[in-house]
Amino acid sequence: MHLDLHRHLEGSHSPAALAKVAREFNLRSPLLFDDATQRFRDEQSIAAQVTLTEPSDDSSRFYRCIVQARQAYVSVEAIAALSVLAFREAAEDTDGFELRLSLFSMVRTLLEHQRLAWRDVPPVVFAERWAQPILLAVLAARDQVAKETGTPMVVRLGLSRTFESEPHYRALADMVVEHAPRLVGLDVLGIVPPPDAEPMPEGLVAVLERLRPHLPDLTIHAGEFSGRRARARKPGHPRAPGESGHHPRGVPIEQPPLDSHGRGPAGEGPRQRAVARAAARARALRAGQ
Ligand SMILES: [Zn+2]
Repeated sequence: MHLDLHRHLEGSHSPAALAKVAREFNLRSPLLFDDATQRFRDEQSIAAQVTLTEPSDDSSRFYRCIVQARQAYVSVEAIAALSVLAFREAAEDTDGFELRLSLFSMVRTLLEHQRLAWRDVPPVVFAERWAQPILLAVLAARDQVAKETGTPMVVRLGLSRTFESEPHYRALADMVVEHAPRLVGLDVLGIVPPPDAEPMPEGLVAVLERLRPHLPDLTIHAGEFSGRRARARKPGHPRAPGESGHHPRGVPIEQPPLDSHGRGPAGEGPRQRAVARAAARARALRAGQ
């Protein structure tokens, strides 16, 4: 049985799905449409723009691929279509999976594509008028594909350390509370400049505290881009990945077992906790949660 407990929606748009949605929604951005020939790009041409050709410690190269794929986020309908395809592909790849949703960045991207300055959008409007339809579209896509395939699938809400606006995140969190029963938990993610991703912004900690009574399960991304030396620090070291006063006991610190060159392993303690947590979640998935 293959369970994938760590997928991101934004990283799950295949070249085939992007090509299909581009034609369906007449998306003529450079990633998807070739102005010179006036034709939609094929899968191979899109793949060359959204795929890393070699391992790299430079997180910006990876992130550029994610940003490229976001060119298709032009409307809630396009996001809904991409979501259905992403859930279907994940269901084909696995016997069950967890997909993470970076709602804030999806809303920001959609607003940019609508030529709106997101910072000028009042937080409550940002949350209710823009974020909520995206969240509902993704959850509807999940329900549809779960029904089609019978594959267990859960959705986790990602909140980024980049934390661009406290009021917008707070309004987003207030909106999410209402939909919490349809989500499985929270995730802290986001690439911030070195040397340290910790401590988290105080405002983000407050948002997590606001949401955890409704979504107690919390995962924290740590160490993916911090290099071998940082990841070899023992848990408890003040600059060990994911270590800060804000992390309650029992929260899994997610680290890749190997670095991008295939070297490893990462620190034992957090990894063991993450694996134990993954196993528990796998059992929950099997139980049909
Ligand atoms: Zn991740």
